[in-house]
Amino acid sequence: MSSYWNEKMETLPFKELQALQLERLKRQVKHVYENNAIQRKKLKDAGVTPADIRTLDDLQKIPFSVKDELREHYPIGLQCVPQEEVLRYHMSSGTTGKPIACGYTREDIEVWAEVMARSLYAAGGRKGDIFQNAYGYGLFTGGLGFHYGGEKLGMSVIPTAAGNTARQILVMKDMHTTFLGCTPSYAQLLGETLEKEGVDVVNELELRVGLHGAEPWTDELRERIEKSLGFKAHGGGAFDHYGLTEMTGPGVASECEARTGLHVWSDHFLAEIIDPETGEQVEPGEKGELVLTTLSKEAVPFLRYRTKDITVLDTEPCECGRTHPRIRKIMGRADDMLIIRGVNVFPSQIEHVLLQHDELAEPFQIVINRQGALDQLMVRVEQRDISVSRDALKGMLEKELRETLLVSVLVEVEKPNTLPRFEGKARRIIDEREVYK
Ligand code: ADP
Ligand code: ZN
Repeated sequence: MSSYWNEKMETLPFKELQALQLERLKRQVKHVYENNAIQRKKLKDAGVTPADIRTLDDLQKIPFSVKDELREHYPIGLQCVPQEEVLRYHMSSGTTGKPIACGYTREDIEVWAEVMARSLYAAGGRKGDIFQNAYGYGLFTGGLGFHYGGEKLGMSVIPTAAGNTARQILVMKDMHTTFLGCTPSYAQLLGETLEKEGVDVVNELELRVGLHGAEPWTDELRERIEKSLGFKAHGGGAFDHYGLTEMTGPGVASECEARTGLHVWSDHFLAEIIDPETGEQVEPGEKGELVLTTLSKEAVPFLRYRTKDITVLDTEPCECGRTHPRIRKIMGRADDMLIIRGVNVFPSQIEHVLLQHDELAEPFQIVINRQGALDQLMVRVEQRDISVSRDALKGMLEKELRETLLVSVLVEVEKPNTLPRFEGKARRIIDEREVYK
């Protein structure tokens, strides 16, 4: 029943996919070794030459790459092609510090469009869809990545870019948008605004599919987005999409209609999961840090790049027929993991608890401060309406959060429409402990 954008590649028997990965890995290591002095030195220091890569397991001989190397050799020290081969530069949004820059050759842009077309198709996008692309255009990879993929697939792309919510809604109505691309935070804000303005999303709009990525989000938020934008009513849904500037930007992994994880487009990206403490690969099915190797990148390839994103890798066949391994929904970045009194907490776990409550609006904020010698976790939530008593809500949420997170949490219930909304990636954590440093 399923169909594919690139049937041959997406359903390539797993053994053949691995053979292709090995061939491309050898080529990629050789390319890096021969064309970048910094990378060559690093490989030499680790005692690895291209001839040492004979099996996929030999990948583990290669040292990891980390974001700090990109910063150290900023802006283009890790580039492996002459500058005149580079057609475009993007920079990361800088969520966790100084931005990084990555170049693309003509072939890199072509591959990027291909993996994006596959991703849009896997979520249900087709030629003829009106694709409103509300990811940020510019240095951020989101806008242009989705744009090229949409055009390659044959969708009618409307580059609204992020922001200007009133205009987004006008475009949705007038152009009969069927497919929406934006961060989950922005989808939430769009849905909320449609409701406030009394737009009947089932009868006045035709939104069928949303492809949302660039930040962690939960299944609870997915349900709310599907309802508030009317995707479900039009026979589609909201799908998750994963990427990072160091690989291509968006285009690394995407959900299919089975929604049991995101297929990593493994003819172009090789995924491993490691224990972040030891750096060793974990057992299949165990949770850990996602490490990615580009297999076809020309301008800025990465060998064993530590994403800091926490997930699980699943190589079992998917019911959709695609053979490419899946990553489970990302729990969050290791950087966003809070350690409160020795207990690890991800913001996504908090969202999971909060959004089971219809009395709450989607936005929330996490404030960490120090009470004497102890860290205190506070969660600010927002009432959707004021029919429920704030005290009752506070007591109930504090209990549920404590039971789920195994650490005590203080909850502050705010009035409707008081917490910040985001057009790109949400910034939810306020760490007041900084002042003690
Ligand atoms: P920045 O690091 O400045 O945010 P990027 O735009 O390259 O720059 O962001 C990539 C990061 O965004 C990923 O490493 C991951 O932490 C996060 N991310 C992207 N897509 C998803 C997703 N679908 N789910 C969870 N996190 C995501
Ligand atoms: Zn699938």
